[in-house]
Amino acid sequence: MPRFLSILLIVLGFGCLAPAAADVTQVRIVGDGAPTRITIWTDVAETAAALATEGPGQRKVVLLLAQNGYSAEGGGDGGVETWSLEPGRLEFTLDRPMAVTRMLRLPPTGKERAYRVILDLDTISPTRYTVAARRDTKKLARLETQYAEARADAMKLAGSAAAARRPSGPRKHVVVIDAGHGGKDPGAMALAGGKEKDITLKAALALKDALDAYGRYEVRLTRDSDVYVEHEDRVTLARNWGAELFISLHADAAGSTSVSGASVYTISARGETRIDREATKNDWKIAIEDGTPERLNGLLEDLVKRETKTRSAEFAELLLPELAKAGPVLRNTHRNAGYYVLLAPDVPAVLLELGFLTNAEDARRLQSDKGRKAAVNAVAVTIDTYFAQQDLRLASN
Ligand SMILES: [Zn+2]
Repeated sequence: MPRFLSILLIVLGFGCLAPAAADVTQVRIVGDGAPTRITIWTDVAETAAALATEGPGQRKVVLLLAQNGYSAEGGGDGGVETWSLEPGRLEFTLDRPMAVTRMLRLPPTGKERAYRVILDLDTISPTRYTVAARRDTKKLARLETQYAEARADAMKLAGSAAAARRPSGPRKHVVVIDAGHGGKDPGAMALAGGKEKDITLKAALALKDALDAYGRYEVRLTRDSDVYVEHEDRVTLARNWGAELFISLHADAAGSTSVSGASVYTISARGETRIDREATKNDWKIAIEDGTPERLNGLLEDLVKRETKTRSAEFAELLLPELAKAGPVLRNTHRNAGYYVLLAPDVPAVLLELGFLTNAEDARRLQSDKGRKAAVNAVAVTIDTYFAQQDLRLASN
């Protein structure tokens, strides 16, 4: 009677952080007997360890990953009979004793947008397997405990990285408003006269007034006069103030005078690749609780970065319908870009282009107190809705 053999990949669930994301997007198994190759496509950077375990009549190899959970299954090839993905785990059933001989993690390339984890399996003797399994089973139990603790920490950390740097107690949400350009950098120019740097400053001051009226926000400005502030200093200021939301205000310019309307940007995939580099350069460290095992730091940082991206997108999606009530918006108006001010790894951030200065109607609107006020009120209402949602979420966790 053939023994039942399986390779089990335990995929730890962090689904609560981003319920909509399907992290394992594809599993492919290729083999002609042994050796066999398993390729897993995933949309988040992973920290992984492949471990062997052995139970009664059953052999497993366990891969620990930071993962969101959903269900899927499929047939195997080579030494793998089937695979099945459940919330928290990915399981491979084998028809012979095999070990992971090689594990590769490949970052996204130009064409390939996902991360790939490649496992090469080959047949080994049952005796060798048993030795490896004894060693790995203990390690696995330890890692599972650590990952569960890390998951609890990540829940606390995500989105409250800023809060962790402040003393606890009743507090106002910290919103940082960044008036684009300034001083030597005028930004875009309206055809009939008028500079972007002046419009963004007026809008930023008006937004601060609108938010102050709620009494629930601590509002900070990266500049409150006609001065130039370096991009990295804008981000550093926001992080030092413990920003929970960063809004950069701009006004666009286009080659065609007919292009008009507001648009909202969050970080692009291309921009994301710069986050780590800039974070290292500028010492933008993600706050990780003392006592966290060193090698879980990377995992926690990935989770915080991912949650920050999710929250930025959530804010952008809330903002668009409000902006549409206040004035024209550009088509496909939530866009992704690699703007420097969006690069903080742990502060949800959006860049709002209030309209096009190259369009006569937009330029008039943005240079009038009434037009600016309409746009600014839309932002203020959205900020209040966003934090009401975040508070509700925290309260229910
Ligand atoms: Zn600008």
